[in-house]
Amino acid sequence: MDERTHSPVPAANPVLARCLFGAVRQDWSRAEVQALFDLPFPDLIFHAQRIHRENFDPREVQISTLLSIKTGGCPEDCAYCPQSAHYGTGVAADKLMDVAAVVNEARAAKAAGASRFCMGAAWRSPKERDLDRVCAMVEGVRALGLETCATLGMLTAPQAARLKSAGLDYYNHNLDTSPEFYGEIISTRTYQDRLDTLDRVRAAGIHVCCGGIVGMGEGRDDRIGMIATLASLPAHPESVPINLLVRVEGTPLAAKETFDPLEFVRTIAVARIAMPASVVRLSAGREGMSDETQALCILAGANSIFYGPKLLTTPNPAQARDSSLFDKLGLVPMR
Ligand code: SF4
Repeated sequence: MDERTHSPVPAANPVLARCLFGAVRQDWSRAEVQALFDLPFPDLIFHAQRIHRENFDPREVQISTLLSIKTGGCPEDCAYCPQSAHYGTGVAADKLMDVAAVVNEARAAKAAGASRFCMGAAWRSPKERDLDRVCAMVEGVRALGLETCATLGMLTAPQAARLKSAGLDYYNHNLDTSPEFYGEIISTRTYQDRLDTLDRVRAAGIHVCCGGIVGMGEGRDDRIGMIATLASLPAHPESVPINLLVRVEGTPLAAKETFDPLEFVRTIAVARIAMPASVVRLSAGREGMSDETQALCILAGANSIFYGPKLLTTPNPAQARDSSLFDKLGLVPMR
């Protein structure tokens, strides 16, 4: 610390100096990510905000809307998910929506200020006949002038190529947590399965949306492992959603203790520093967050949110609350 200015000068610590330089790099070690987590909170937020400003307009927040195009009945056993057929959560299994209905929802999302429309289906992986319809949805949504995103489970290389041809801009496929903790959360597909799908999406030329969930009972080491893995992918995901667990009755994680909001803010700040040029999305869990926690997340470098009353099957803040928060913080939708 420089005694005269009280500005955190990292040069005395070579590990930190390298971490705080603000470069986009793929060789993050866990020790480096841990050094960021261990920073005093004011220093961490200062550097996250500084690096954020080097890459983005700090007032701009990208707005996405997420629609469940095929809800429930999923054969996977993700312990946080109310759509898994393994748990009795009261979420009914629906069929894949019609193209026209999806395009109508996208039109309404655009009118509400969304720039990206995400379509989520509760599948292990899409069947070919379903993919035909999803490709038609992508084409219809794109024709409205919206960016398109889909999350459909695991993809083969030809499926990724078809989605790219239909005009898909982003594919969401989360790593969820660290490789070590992953087995506590999902048993029906492996961490490597996820990495393989990410490789196929990237190879097809589709932007990657990939992040994880905190508050599932993992330790800080697992949050470190998750961010180190994300930041060490061959290219950083363009979009990094950081979700706070939404505890849903009937899922194995329903009784998890409340997660410390300041540790959540820390996780956002570390993601911002480790992936300086990526959009970091304050994703699921906002409904239960105070305005103050959300403001700290924005200060820590989050610059994307989901807008709309529902996130797949769980509640999201009402649009009026989000508009009021944007006004209070002087935020504007990212162009
Ligand atoms: S998170 Fe996705 S893959 Fe996992 S159970 Fe839910 S819908 Fe299925």
